[in-house]
Parts: sequence; C-alpha cells; structure tokens
Amino acid sequence: MDDEEFRRRGKEMIDYIADYLKNINDRRVTPEVEPGYLRPMLPKNAPESSEKWDNIMKDVERAIMPGITHWQHPRFHAYFPAGNSYPSILGDMLSSGLGIVGFSWAASPACTELETIMLDWIGRMMALPVGFLPFDPNRDNKDSDDEEEEEEEEEEEEEESSPESDDESSENNVHGSITNGETSHEQKQSRHIGGGVLLGSASECILVAMLAARTKKITSKRLADPLMEDGHILARLVCYTSKLAHSCVEKAGLICMVRVRQLGVDEHFSLRGKTLEECIRADKEKGLIPFLVSGTLGTTSCCSYDNLEEIGEICQREKLWFHVDGAYAGSAFLCEEYRYIMKGLQYADSFNTNPNKWLLMNFDCSCFWVRDKFALINAMSVDPLYLQHKHAQKAVDYRHWGVALSRRFRSLKLWFTIRSYGIEGLRHYIREHCRLAKVFASLINTDSRFEIIGDVTLGLVCFRLKGSNKLNQKLLLSLNDSGFIHMVPSMVNDIYIIRFAVCAKYASDDDMSVAFHIIQEHSKDVLTEYRAQRV
Ligand code: PLP
Repeated sequence: MDDEEFRRRGKEMIDYIADYLKNINDRRVTPEVEPGYLRPMLPKNAPESSEKWDNIMKDVERAIMPGITHWQHPRFHAYFPAGNSYPSILGDMLSSGLGIVGFSWAASPACTELETIMLDWIGRMMALPVGFLPFDPNRDNKDSDDEEEEEEEEEEEEEESSPESDDESSENNVHGSITNGETSHEQKQSRHIGGGVLLGSASECILVAMLAARTKKITSKRLADPLMEDGHILARLVCYTSKLAHSCVEKAGLICMVRVRQLGVDEHFSLRGKTLEECIRADKEKGLIPFLVSGTLGTTSCCSYDNLEEIGEICQREKLWFHVDGAYAGSAFLCEEYRYIMKGLQYADSFNTNPNKWLLMNFDCSCFWVRDKFALINAMSVDPLYLQHKHAQKAVDYRHWGVALSRRFRSLKLWFTIRSYGIEGLRHYIREHCRLAKVFASLINTDSRFEIIGDVTLGLVCFRLKGSNKLNQKLLLSLNDSGFIHMVPSMVNDIYIIRFAVCAKYASDDDMSVAFHIIQEHSKDVLTEYRAQRV
C-alpha cells in the first residue's frame, strides 16, 4: 500500500467505522458462532503474494463480523462499558501513525510529558488527594486554601508515621538500590513524590502495586534484620482484599507468589475494618507478614464500595500498602456529587481507574497513581546501557513504572477526548448513565416478580427474579441466547444476580424501556416453564 492508497483506504475505513457504529442497532448483540468457527473460513497458510485490499475488507464482513460481540450496541449491558468515542479513536490513529515507542523520555519526549500532564489533569478532574499528583510550583503555590490544608494534613500524617515507615520511605533511589536512609536527588528536588502513569489494564495496575508493596516490605524487613533472606520473608507475606474484589487481585497474588486472603463483606457488600483487623491479628499470630490491602471502589460484582476510612486507618497503623481499585467507579469522581464515595482515599498509597471503561476512551487506557513513585521504581528498575540517556536524572522514564518496556502513545487519546468533550461534557455523560440506571431500577421496581440487590449509585443495577438461583440462571441464559440483549451474572453472598450495566455512549430512556420489556417477556416464559417442571 503506497501513500496515495493509504489516503483513500484510510478515508474508507473511517466511513466503515462510522457506518458500523451508526447502524449497530441492526445487528444481534452477541454472535451465533461456535468455538473454532473461523478456521474453516480462512486459508490454512498465510498468502505468499499480496492480496487486494477490497478482498481483505470483504472478508471482514464475511468472516470477522459474524464473530463480533457488539460492545457498543445499545442492548449491550454486560460487564462495564467499553469506552469509545470518535476523538479517542482518532487519538489512537495518530498514535499508530506516529509509530513511536515511548519507553523513556528520550525515546519520545512528548509521549512522556503528555502522559504526565494527562495523569495530572485527570487526577485534578477527579479531585484525587494532592499526594498523588506531582508538585508543580506554578500551580500548587496558587492552590486554594482547602488544598493547602489538605497538603498540610498529609504532611502531618507523614510525620506521625512510625520508625518502620521511616525506614520504608528512606529506601528510595531512582534505580532501585537501597540507600540506607539517604534521600535521593529527585526526592530532595520536589515536595511531592507522587505521580501517575498509563498502563494497559487495571490488572496490570494492581500487579504493579503489589510488586511495589512486596519490594517495600521485603526491603524494610531485610533492613531491620539483615540475616533474614528474601525468600523467607516472601513465603510469609499476606495480601488482603474482599471476596468481591476483581479476580485480578488473586491473579496478581499468583504472579507475586504471595497469599491473598479474600475477606467477607457486610450487608452492603463492603469490606469493613473489623473483618480486616481480625484477620491481620490471626495472621500475625501465625508469624505471617501482612503487607498489602487492595480495596475496591465499585466492585465488578455489584458496584459496592469498601470502607476506605476504616481500612485506611488500619493500613496506616499496621504499615501496610493500601491500594484502591476504582477501575469503573473512578470516573464518577469527575462529578462532585459522587465524591462522597471516595472518602478515605487520602489513606491510599496507590489508586487506579480505567478511562477505557467509563470515560469514553477506547481500550487500552488505565490510569495508575502512586503516592511515592520511588517505591514503584525500586521494584521495577533495571538500567542497561542502551536505554540510558543524558536527561535521566531530570526526566521521567516510564519504563521504570511498569512491567512492559515498550509503550504506546496512549495519552494522545486522553488529550483529544478531554479537550473535545471538556470536563463538563464528560460529566454530562457520566450523569446520564447514572440517571438511566435509576430509570431502569424504577422499571424493575414496578414489577413485583423482581427484586433489586444492592444499592444503585452509579450505572449498574443488580436484579433478579424472586426465587432460586437456578431460576435466575435460566432467565439469563434465555436472554443471552436470544441475541437481543447481553448481560452477565454475578454471585454476592451466595445470591445469583443479573448485572445490568448502562454501557452505550448514547444510551436513552427508550433503551431502558426496551431492555426492561425484553427481560419481562423472557421472565414470563421462564417462569411458566419453571412452574410446569416443578408441578
Ligand atoms: N477491577 C475492577 C473493579 C473491574 O471491574 C475490572 C474489570 O471489569 C478489573 C479490575 C480488571 O480490569 P482490566 O480488564 O482492565 O484488567
């Protein structure tokens, strides 16, 4: 393909995408194919010689589209939204076109600097605790009284922390070596040592938090007792999370080779301090070493919220790393009325949210903030000669902030989308989804055969037919098999629930009514069949 053909085909592709999204309603939500459907439709071997572009595009319709689940369909209510918007698509297009790999500042300065600025913008849009944001003398010196007070409180909290936490905070050095209390050059230069990075997924953010927390705890234990071996400490580490936390916490535990305790929740499906405290006490009595708590704001199962204040106080007292996963719910903090949910976030050492879920960014785009960037860098820093550059002491090198070396120019889509919508436009989108969830919940409440489980605060409604788990499994199977609507289940405190997430970008009141009527129709059939079988 030469330049001229690329211009033509590129324009055609934009038309193809715009038509696809405009007419998505005409399609089934879920495909009707069986596993292995694609292999017989494609040649066994890759083509030896070049093929015509028209033929390739014909095969998209013939072979690929039949196997697509249409996440942008107005009747798609599964999981959480898959963010998408035209400015975001264009941002990714430019990123692909530039074809850069931004692992260090020198590898493409704009890639690194725009990313830092975008994380800063979003952190401020969400009113995250200032400790997560890098210090900016032009901005922070002009901050409001409120923020100055918050900063002072945070500084006081830091001062109050105990000798062990002093040990832990003094282990930092840009390239990961232990300094025995020396404050690094970078630390001396800025009051704030927080910052943010874009990673590929929430799972990656949680893994990275766990790696940082693990290194920090092992290092502090080794400093306290130099004879203690890393392997011996590792074998005793324990992470805590709720049983409703996303399975990626458990997976991070597998990768990091640490125990993960999945703790019970209260009647609001929230992890409480008392439960955590009792488990920590029991573990310490067994000689184990608690090192991390991963709390959730907006659980995947039912969008419940752990009690960050209670958990945070315990983490501070026990010197545990406190990570907070707000993969979905974090976007709601753009709106002041939902910020009550993040009460207690000031205790967190790290926080993640996915703009590629609920902030109109297409995949992938996960934001991760950390209060002490050196704790992260210590866990992940290696420094071969071919990656070094002369600005390394002054610049951010994101290769030290995550698992991957090579990184896409993800911040372009954030920049394009935030500027195109404005914060007000993004808030409007969030508020509409929250309003529509309430509309859907009120429709469910009009029919006494159903019940709602949990609170409806954001864009998720969890409901079920009053009756057995099996009955609800049958209902969901019937709905999903129809191809008219798509939802997924969850289990909370042994109750099988059906999750209805408001997902489509332009979701409307009509969409809520249509979904409700489809659910009613299928419920009628399922109940009739169920009763007949039981007689
Ligand atoms: N955390 C929460 C609360 C989630 O809802 C999800 C996915 O839905 C994840 C983590 C994992 O997200 P990712 O697919 O970005 O790894």
